[in-house]
Amino acid sequence: MIMLPGKPPYSQQGGEDQIENILKMNFSYPLGEKTNKKTPEGPWRYIWSHLPYKIKEAFYKSFRKGEEYSAPGKRLTTADWYDRMEHYLNDALDKMIENDPMSAELFPTRFKRVASLTYISCKLCGKDVVEDMTENGICRDCLSKGEQCHCSRCGKILKYTNRDKYISQEKRHDLCLNCHTYLNQVYSEVYCSECGSLFTITNGEYEFLQQKGFRLPQKCKSCRAASKYAVSHGSSQVAAGGNTEDPDQLITGTGSLISQLLKLSKK
Ligand SMILES: [Zn+2]
Ligand SMILES: [Zn+2]
Ligand SMILES: [Zn+2]
Repeated sequence: MIMLPGKPPYSQQGGEDQIENILKMNFSYPLGEKTNKKTPEGPWRYIWSHLPYKIKEAFYKSFRKGEEYSAPGKRLTTADWYDRMEHYLNDALDKMIENDPMSAELFPTRFKRVASLTYISCKLCGKDVVEDMTENGICRDCLSKGEQCHCSRCGKILKYTNRDKYISQEKRHDLCLNCHTYLNQVYSEVYCSECGSLFTITNGEYEFLQQKGFRLPQKCKSCRAASKYAVSHGSSQVAAGGNTEDPDQLITGTGSLISQLLKLSKK
């Protein structure tokens, strides 16, 4: 039997000095609710969880300051240790393996199963996880992971998590929230040169037109649509207002660009 292979008993999370830990008898493996919450990450916490209570208790109470067997005169004898090991091998182990086959492994890859809980294997990482701790069959670890992308406007890093992808079923965002909000705010309000009604130009439309080197539209959407129709049907009346750059078309284009961006960056 190998216990905590390759890890000194006073190692702990946070990288504190081993000597200090030994002097303070700051043992980091838990016993029931008792824990300093510094158990080393990795397989050791799993190995520990698969030990039977009597073994955990013997270690915990011997290695942790102020506990029952921690003072020199109170330590467990060799015979006590032997009894506990024998109990582990002859009484506890079979039941433990029956409850959780992973208890037979020298290097378990997860915590010991609790009999009252239901376990499933995560759809993404394949690890055994408590069903209640999953959503759509995906563990919390995997849900918080994901891919990184960048805002197409400011370059800010955007995280596209597995939760966004599989639970919220969102599309990957193209814009950060700031840019998305900004682009949809009103840049200016203009009275239509044709019908006189007030229409708005958003920052997004403004930026788009600037980039393309076009001037801002003078007519409202419906007048633009009407003149576009007239142009395509060869009406000379509208052609008089001639604009070779046809901002109408551009704005229509921008509109669809904006609505596309909107859809992409709903969050
Ligand atoms: Zn997972
Ligand atoms: Zn941005
Ligand atoms: Zn108009």
